[in-house]
Amino acid sequence: MPDADRHSPLECSDTFLDRAMMRLGLGQEMRTLLKGPYREIMVELPLVRADGELEVFAGYRVQHDQARGPFKGGLRFHPSVDMDHFRALAAVMTWKTAVVDVPFGGAKGGIACDPHALSAAELEDLTKGFTEKMDEVIGPNRDIPAPDVGTGPREMAWMFDAYSRRHGYEPGVVTGKPIQLGGSYGRTEATGRGVAMVTAWACEAEGIGLEGARVAIQGFGNVGSHAASFLAERGARVVALSDVSGGLRRDEGLDVEAMRRIASDDPELPLPELDVEGEPLSNGELLALDVDVLVPAAIEGVLHGGNVGDVRARLVVEGANLPTTCDAHELLVERGTPVVPDILANAGGVTVSYLEWVQNRERVRWEAERVNRELERVLGEAWKVVCDRAEEEGVDYRMAAYEVAVGRVREAIELRGF
Ligand code: NAD
Repeated sequence: MPDADRHSPLECSDTFLDRAMMRLGLGQEMRTLLKGPYREIMVELPLVRADGELEVFAGYRVQHDQARGPFKGGLRFHPSVDMDHFRALAAVMTWKTAVVDVPFGGAKGGIACDPHALSAAELEDLTKGFTEKMDEVIGPNRDIPAPDVGTGPREMAWMFDAYSRRHGYEPGVVTGKPIQLGGSYGRTEATGRGVAMVTAWACEAEGIGLEGARVAIQGFGNVGSHAASFLAERGARVVALSDVSGGLRRDEGLDVEAMRRIASDDPELPLPELDVEGEPLSNGELLALDVDVLVPAAIEGVLHGGNVGDVRARLVVEGANLPTTCDAHELLVERGTPVVPDILANAGGVTVSYLEWVQNRERVRWEAERVNRELERVLGEAWKVVCDRAEEEGVDYRMAAYEVAVGRVREAIELRGF
């Protein structure tokens, strides 16, 4: 299916929301309020490259809703991002923070750039320039960025530094920081850990034994690699993994820990070239494997109307944000393939971001066990609320999660007044 015929992330997030708002019977003005962003910002970021040439980059931040708490959402560095992309991802954050009931709203932003084509010094300049230009609209009580595709603890450290230079020591301005600068134990692996927890609960609910279950995971970055590790730890057989360059499969199960070790020693090495036992396969082939669980954990829109008919997995767990387009989602539901939606499946990251923010505000550090225990409690409660609603209303997991989330945000808006 040509890209132009695919539903965009924004169309899909709007469609999921529209369906929930319709079922909840919301009036037109409330629908308008819930759908559109609170504020959108675009900034120019001039950078003098190492060779002396000037290059101007575009930086974005979309703040979708703050009725339940400060805006919260990742910072993405990727060449193909634009405002529409961030509109969709910011809205997803609002529903995600609501479904796990942490006191945040939703936002998303980043810089249209290829981080692999920039030196560390150039990236530091860009990140700090972005932070300075966003100075008035971010902050621990306003908007708290975190890592996303193409960013990690290093970029959060730079943002923390740039912000603190103007405002004094303020670690709560970003989450996902290095531990030495006020990061939380367990934050880096939290999204993948949460994906594994939710997968285990969903397998139980759907009658799939996780022990020995065949799992295919697309994406071997922060989310995919940690999800693979935690799922293997729980006894699942990770039979396929991929990154942007392609993947590897092995029916007996891939050696996930060896792959993680090699990839961390040489992060630029394409996944199919990792020296472990396994056969190469393409991303398209991975999505169509006959597995128990498929975890798309890379980017948006990988399961779409053109390929969803090939999906043979018994359960889809969305590690990435918006990996399933709205038409693909409908086809999966019609076919009876359960999909655990992004706003629940990958909410482990924002949950531990919340715990990091709490520790920063209290100037304390919790043990890893406490963080992981809290993560399991928060996600477990959200899973139960969503499951109960799905059963009571006879709807799929995504609709149930959206209904819970939209209901909570609407309630907060009404309580605060207009
Ligand atoms: P990352 O940059 O660490 O990893 C992304 C992975 O996807 C890499 O392995 C990359 O090679 C692969 N990839 C990129 N383009 C691809 C393509 N076209 N086909 C196949 N693979 C491709 O990013 P991440 O932090 O792991 O985030 C992955 C997804 O999870 C994103 O949708 C992100 O928004 C979402 N997410 C991340 C977090 C977090 O805490 N990092 C939290 C919630 C949701």
